[in-house]
Amino acid sequence: MSKTPHGLERRRSWFQTSFFILFLLAPPLDLFRLDLNQGHFFLLRMNWTLGLDAFVHGEIGPGAATLNLVLRGFVPLLLVVSGFIFVSWRYGRLYCGWLCPHFSVVEAINKLMRRASGKPSIWEPAPLPERQPDGSALKPDPKFWPVTLITALFLAFVWALTLLTYLLPPFEIYENLLTASLTPNQFRFLAVATVLFLIEFTFARHLFCRFGCAVGLFQSLAWMANNKAMVVRFDTRRANECRGCDGQCDNVCPMRLKPRTLKRKMFTCTQCTQCISACDQVQSDNPAGGLLDWSEGKEALVVVTGRMPADTVREDKPLSAPRQE
Ligand code: SF4
Ligand code: SF4
Repeated sequence: MSKTPHGLERRRSWFQTSFFILFLLAPPLDLFRLDLNQGHFFLLRMNWTLGLDAFVHGEIGPGAATLNLVLRGFVPLLLVVSGFIFVSWRYGRLYCGWLCPHFSVVEAINKLMRRASGKPSIWEPAPLPERQPDGSALKPDPKFWPVTLITALFLAFVWALTLLTYLLPPFEIYENLLTASLTPNQFRFLAVATVLFLIEFTFARHLFCRFGCAVGLFQSLAWMANNKAMVVRFDTRRANECRGCDGQCDNVCPMRLKPRTLKRKMFTCTQCTQCISACDQVQSDNPAGGLLDWSEGKEALVVVTGRMPADTVREDKPLSAPRQE
């Protein structure tokens, strides 16, 4: 099955923004947080305990305590983890590309860095072409460096502050911050976490997504286990239509992948669809449309094996393997 990417970018940006707001507001609204002072979680405004206090006080026996542990700890965890793994197995790293607040930072800083230097990250070997998928030109302007660094610093502080509110009562933290009366430990946490996030956001943000994030890794492993999972597919039958394009799909990828390649080389693809949208823009005058799409089922197999299964090929000419980078 192929899906049209029209409007996907707008929808994705709506999802990302909403989830970022949820990430900021979950602690003050008691939707989800761990309160280290009280020693338990809050979930959907309710105290979420394992119910072991009653056992400690001798009010319930070991059988009831075990049941509490299973029902309040093991079962909810199992449901959340298995649901998450199933979505990844079927659709890939949708959480990363469509929700994760860290990936929103990756994309924001990438764009600013490209504006400042022509390179989406300092590790990019050379500046990317100035031409954008819509045909406009983006001339690097070093004046954007201060904006880039201030944005990275601001986001690092927001992340540090938010993480602290996931651990300690949020309104106490906000009040202490506004009245400059943070405890020494709160101040140290904020300062150290801000510096660490600043370093990560500036130098290693997409590298963390590619190599350092366990949540991303498990989604990728589940996705790779399903050859028919949804994947970005390049129509190799029309590969000659890429002539004249300077690899805009490669240029826009926030994970710095090459979308016209085999699935195993796109292990960390976040399903962000930016490559699909870029190609659609490049090919906007082409009646056949872009060369990349989201495919699943049998049509996804070509990205795994390099060959389309016989019953899905509509032309005489068999598909060749996608370009290998
Ligand atoms: S390959 Fe495409 S969908 Fe995957 S991360 Fe890169 S731009 Fe996003
Ligand atoms: S797939 Fe589309 S965006 Fe990528 S090089 Fe070909 S024409 Fe350009």
